[in-house]
Amino acid sequence: MAVIGIESSAHTMGIGIVDRGKVVCNIKRMYRITDKGLIPARVADFHSEGVGGIISESMKVAGIGARDIEAIGYTKGPGLGACLRVGQLTALTLSKRLGVPVMPVNHAVAHIEIAKWYLKMRNPLALYVSGGNSQIIGLSEIPHRHYHIHGETFDVGVGNMIDNFARYAKLNPAWGSTVARSAEGGSYIEMPYTVKGMDFAFAGLLTNAEKLIDSGKSVRDVAYSLQETAFSMLLEASERAMMLMGSGEFLICGGVAQSARLKEMARLMCKAHGARFGVATDEYNADNGAMIALVAEKMFRSGHKPARSDCTVKQKYRIDSVRVGW
Ligand code: MG
Repeated sequence: MAVIGIESSAHTMGIGIVDRGKVVCNIKRMYRITDKGLIPARVADFHSEGVGGIISESMKVAGIGARDIEAIGYTKGPGLGACLRVGQLTALTLSKRLGVPVMPVNHAVAHIEIAKWYLKMRNPLALYVSGGNSQIIGLSEIPHRHYHIHGETFDVGVGNMIDNFARYAKLNPAWGSTVARSAEGGSYIEMPYTVKGMDFAFAGLLTNAEKLIDSGKSVRDVAYSLQETAFSMLLEASERAMMLMGSGEFLICGGVAQSARLKEMARLMCKAHGARFGVATDEYNADNGAMIALVAEKMFRSGHKPARSDCTVKQKYRIDSVRVGW
């Protein structure tokens, strides 16, 4: 028996299959980002062309047939509307065809749950960092079980901010790992640092970095300073949340959690407080279908029965609006 998960919120079309909490398959295809960034309609075309083939391939790898499928999960949001729609329609069509329920999954919940699953953590504080999102999150039982947002970005997500800088500095490919490579051996230039309580903001930092590039500062020094400043902001706010919540476990998840420097800084912060630090492998921090399948299975096994009107897409689907029923 198995649950399939479909992820299509941004540049990745991912299909995952889980069977009683075990990931049996996790296949993904990533849209190649050009200098124009992500154009939602084009990415949606890429997803709709690929989805059928990836599902067949996944079922073959997992060694399952249509009769083994018990439920189908898809990413309801947050994400790009046109891209989310491909996953939703695929899930609804398959569910009707196979006569099995469909589970609308929150993408942020999925990132945290797969990291918890991988690290065997029960109740960590989580720093969720990706292109569109940057949030500090922990489980709360008040007024019912849900993921509470302790702190978040006032403007852009840290991943998009770094990608935008990469495009401005003409780095290729224009994403975080290229910025990290360019930053090696750089010297620190002071930059705007915006932390308010447990919230933070990145737009001013990006504008400042662009101005520094225009004024002739080396890409290496600016890339280095940008990374150091942004990651310090994220971890200062996380550290404050950890102290306030009394958390003994801290994890980072989402696309930006693949950054070696962010992991190093988070590890040092936790060490200073005797807390356990964890981060899953890159396979599970990049967007993937397994995390959607994992949460869909939890929803399904805990008796969740979504109404048809819940099975929509929601571009700004906030994690704190999800009831955690498992
Ligand atoms: Mg993501």
